[in-house]
Amino acid sequence: MNQTNDICPKCGAPLSDVTETATGRKLQRCSQGSWNPQTHKNEGCDYVKWLEVEPKTLDELCPKCGAPLVLQVTRFGKKMKKCSAGSWDKEAKKAIGCDYIEWVNGTTEKLNEICPKCGHELVLYTTANGKKMKKCSTSGWDSAAKKATGCDFVVWLKAGQTASDTGEEYLPPEEF
Ligand SMILES: [Zn+2]
Ligand SMILES: [Zn+2]
Ligand SMILES: [Zn+2]
Repeated sequence: MNQTNDICPKCGAPLSDVTETATGRKLQRCSQGSWNPQTHKNEGCDYVKWLEVEPKTLDELCPKCGAPLVLQVTRFGKKMKKCSAGSWDKEAKKAIGCDYIEWVNGTTEKLNEICPKCGHELVLYTTANGKKMKKCSTSGWDSAAKKATGCDFVVWLKAGQTASDTGEEYLPPEEF
């Protein structure tokens, strides 16, 4: 699959290589256009082609039926795990097969940084919509008592430090 042979429908120039946004979505820009991070504007041709994100099969099994789960990214960048035995019948507008779905609320990565409050390690938490924060690895949520546990140190990363590097927040709206 060589998608770089695609042609821009606006100006006829070839499209650039596929790039991935902070939320794991894929897109191709027109090679006659470029993103200027200083002005937060597209220069030249502003055509952007969003690509379908192919579901990734996970090493996890569906708790309902035992089939493998797949990771899907919605067009809004939200992630969900769903059962590979389930699918959507477009004509009948209903789910067929197994209907197990689990929304992925965010991911955590270990950082080589130490919490200034308690000295434990910090983790980088990415929310479902791609926002990032550093928080203390000892923090947690006691769902029975409905309160936060452990250390409460949190630093939100500004958009300028992460997501806007890809220009994602300033891209033209998706075409439906
Ligand atoms: Zn173009
Ligand atoms: Zn299932
Ligand atoms: Zn801490």
